[in-house]
Amino acid sequence: MHQRGGAPRVRSSATIYVGRRAGPPHVKIGCVADCLFCRIAAGEVPATRVLESSRTIAFRDINPQAPVHVLVIPRAHYDDLPALAAAGDGLLAEVAAQAHLVASQEGIADSGYRVVFNTGANGGQTVGHVHAHVIGGRQMTWPPG
Ligand code: AMP
Ligand code: ZN
Repeated sequence: MHQRGGAPRVRSSATIYVGRRAGPPHVKIGCVADCLFCRIAAGEVPATRVLESSRTIAFRDINPQAPVHVLVIPRAHYDDLPALAAAGDGLLAEVAAQAHLVASQEGIADSGYRVVFNTGANGGQTVGHVHAHVIGGRQMTWPPG
């Protein structure tokens, strides 16, 4: 499902590589075979969608860690937060704005909420399609586990 360390298996016609100055390339592709969140974006895997925009989708986490736990993803595939940040065109800002709209829609914008991008192995990222966790509806604790 991840694109690091090998040729990505692409099933869309458009392929754009977004390079970094150092390290492995970060890949942006319209749709990646075997990526769970690409499959959710394509409607091939069911998810409870709560908000959509032309470039993003928000859906409920299948294993919620709080009364509200929603994931916001770009429809296009980016591996992780640095890849999304490198994408430009306001896409990272749009994901953040959608996260706040989700919080408003879920009634937790005023009480407060947490937005998390788990990034990489030590960051606890398990799905290699960037996603913002929007978590709330209870008091968050710090430090996180
Ligand atoms: P992370 O561990 O930060 O990569 O977050 C991945 C998140 O995706 C976890 O919180 C999972 O519970 C969630 N997840 C995995 N599969 C699904 C699915 N089919 N629908 C919704 N959420 C999912
Ligand atoms: Zn993907």
